Amino acid sequence: MSTLENYINGRFVPARAGRTREYLNPATNEVLGVATESDASDVEAAIAAARRAFDDGPWPTTPAAERAARLFKLADLIESHAEELAKLDTLNNGKPLREARYDAADAAGCFRYYAGLATKPQGQTYEVGDPNIVSETVREPIGVCGQIIPWNYPLLMAAWKLAPGLAAGNCCILKPSELTPVSAVRLFELIAEVGFPPGAAQLVLGAGDPVGAALAESHAVDKIAFTGGTATGRKIMAAATGNLKKISLELGGKSPNILFADADPEAALEYAMFGIFAGQGEVCSAGSRLILERSMAEDFLPRLAEACGRIVVGDGLDEETEMGPLISRAHQRKVLDYIAAGRAEGAELLCGGGIYEDERARGNYVQPTVFTQTTPGMKIVREEIFGPVLAVQLFDTEDEAVKLANDTVYGLAGAVFTSDGAKARRVIRRLRAGITWINTYHPTFNEAPWGGYKQSGIGRELGTYGYEAYTEVKQINTNLAPGRLGWFKGI
Ligand code: NAD
Repeated sequence: MSTLENYINGRFVPARAGRTREYLNPATNEVLGVATESDASDVEAAIAAARRAFDDGPWPTTPAAERAARLFKLADLIESHAEELAKLDTLNNGKPLREARYDAADAAGCFRYYAGLATKPQGQTYEVGDPNIVSETVREPIGVCGQIIPWNYPLLMAAWKLAPGLAAGNCCILKPSELTPVSAVRLFELIAEVGFPPGAAQLVLGAGDPVGAALAESHAVDKIAFTGGTATGRKIMAAATGNLKKISLELGGKSPNILFADADPEAALEYAMFGIFAGQGEVCSAGSRLILERSMAEDFLPRLAEACGRIVVGDGLDEETEMGPLISRAHQRKVLDYIAAGRAEGAELLCGGGIYEDERARGNYVQPTVFTQTTPGMKIVREEIFGPVLAVQLFDTEDEAVKLANDTVYGLAGAVFTSDGAKARRVIRRLRAGITWINTYHPTFNEAPWGGYKQSGIGRELGTYGYEAYTEVKQINTNLAPGRLGWFKGI
């Protein structure tokens, strides 16, 4: 079994200190392989190569159409290796294969979208009142960008970061989660196959601290883009102050899924489950709070409990599997601790709440879990659990639903289910969240901006917003009638 390596200055290389780390299969906790474990000196090497690739050309000066051509080719390669990439993510992350297949297709789509955007109109012109002045803006790459991603969408998050960054002409250094390095390394093999200038796209494997921290602190890095937990986001923002580098943060959430009694009952049931149990609940935008109209609770909750009991939980590689294991033993323990806290605080367990005693005990499985009888102050209502745990909150009026929904420090996502179109739009406009859905949950589009209000982040990824976040805006003013100004009389 070969050790997964960094990709620095156009070559796969081991970390300088020669250290390694095992990575596991969350379905069994068996060792899948070994990855090189970097330290700050490897990050410095990557930054130096990125600075050369940026400051001396050749990547930012590569014509946009050529940058686009490389990214289109990369999208094609991802597509032709989609099944292999999906299997790697399922093996290393645990998510069901059918979800990993969506991720691989989305990753290809993301590179294709930004390849297309690279050659589209970028700047503006301004009417400034002086007919002899042409005032215009152009967009230019920011420079060297550090990109730190979590373990829940290993391939897709790499695409969300690299695609806009590279399309806009930046030199990117990606740091995947130390728990899920494998699909990122395969992606960089495809990047090597396409052939980018050395230093344009690089990969450094290792722990958040020191590898991610070194990227966030370095004065030679111009932008840091981070997806992960809110606590880590705070550290990154603090580290970024040294050289006031640009930052974009995609953080956690505790998103409300509001269900009115007039919603289609079958759709509402399935989406309530899909909102929280897709990706085992390890999804930043998970609908982890079900805000349910009280008049429907008596009928709805027994149906929900029964349906949750029928979710097929197992190894993600099994085509029948509908929910996989959590990422690690430590995370499984954290989720079980939240469940214990919910019980201790007086919430009622409607279903789930435990692990499995069969062969799944080897993996990090947690049963699909639903709590009722919650109160707004409970930990399971306030904190992001990042697992398959749903907290049900009841309301009587529209105002009460909105108040409960917004009673959180987060503001990533939210949804409303109702057959009343006017009510749906009224309520959605009152939600303090960046990504919202009406009568659906979770669809995510490369074309539309993604990001959070409040403590769920800063900035937006995807769509044109995501591209702009990797550019600086330069104002250029051209005098069409050059000549003396006449300001200084004596010259
Ligand atoms: P995490 O914050 O622990 O780690 C994320 C990444 O940051 C990893 O690569 C990690 O190695 C690195 N890191 C850790 N400490 C660091 C430090 N001091 N300096 C620099 N980098 C550091 O998060 P996680 O446990 O991997 O992922 C789960 C979290 O990610 C959840 O809170 C979830 O909501 C969030 N998330 C958000 C989005 C979004 O789009 N908003 C998407 C996916 C995940």
